[in-house]
Amino acid sequence: MDHNEWESLCDGCGRCCLHKLEDVDNGDIYYTRGACELLDIDACRCLDYDNRQKQVPNCVQLSVKEAQYFDWLPSTCAYRLLAEGEDLPLWHPLITGNSESVVKAGVSVKDIAKPLSDITDLSDEIILLRDALKVAVDEA
Ligand code: SF4
Ligand code: SF4
Repeated sequence: MDHNEWESLCDGCGRCCLHKLEDVDNGDIYYTRGACELLDIDACRCLDYDNRQKQVPNCVQLSVKEAQYFDWLPSTCAYRLLAEGEDLPLWHPLITGNSESVVKAGVSVKDIAKPLSDITDLSDEIILLRDALKVAVDEA
């Protein structure tokens, strides 16, 4: 898989760009509504993807070699699914040909994420990410 093919696996959901909290006792990860400061919430896109690690040092660069560590990614993420031997979901833009299918499948964070500036305490913003639809979505 070349670089462009690898990048195209990202469905643009923005879920990995939400701040997470870790339970220090058991390592469990909790997603919150708090969006990374570089996330354009409406577009679910990184505002400076090429330079993101300079601006946000803990932004993880996903690579094939690290696939065994992808269990912190949301269960809908294509990188995690492929690492676990699963197929791409039917709503994935590579299958539908339309990025809006991610929104229709209920996977995008555009309607649930909040800028950090609107949040006082991240622990009040913990969310359970919805599972995605298991079926194809109509053309968006
Ligand atoms: S969770 Fe996965 S598919 Fe969604 S934006 Fe992050 S890397 Fe892309
Ligand atoms: S730097 Fe960009 S890609 Fe990384 S978490 Fe923030 S918005 Fe997402």
